[in-house]
Amino acid sequence: MKIFDRIYLVKNNKLPPDIKKIQKTLNFPEDQIIVAVRALFCCEYCGKNLLQSVDSYDSWQIDHIVPDGSRDPENLALSCKTCNFAKRHTTISELSNYSSRNEKIEQARQIVWERRTKKEINLMKVREFARLLLKLDYKST
Ligand SMILES: [Zn+2]
Repeated sequence: MKIFDRIYLVKNNKLPPDIKKIQKTLNFPEDQIIVAVRALFCCEYCGKNLLQSVDSYDSWQIDHIVPDGSRDPENLALSCKTCNFAKRHTTISELSNYSSRNEKIEQARQIVWERRTKKEINLMKVREFARLLLKLDYKST
């Protein structure tokens, strides 16, 4: 079954009873299910599987691709907390030149990766600083 067909079943309340029963116990809103199924439960920016661990599940967020407040499912993306945080100052004009959802997602992915790369570089510096700090002893001071 294709993703489109699964989304159709969710939208039209036609999920099999056993799955519906679980959905009710999870209190999972329909719009979030649609976004999650479409994204195969992975962050749409970095590909992280959001069901892999408690840490990744806790990182689950719904991002507004174009930050204009639209709750249209076309404007929503499943995102990990790190990517959503990296994307948070993206302006409407940075994404408004792109018409399709795929183009907007691709552009947002670029923006997120540039910002994540800067964080990676900073993290490497902090690691080196911590490594040096933790191996300090009286002889080296
Ligand atoms: Zn991510």
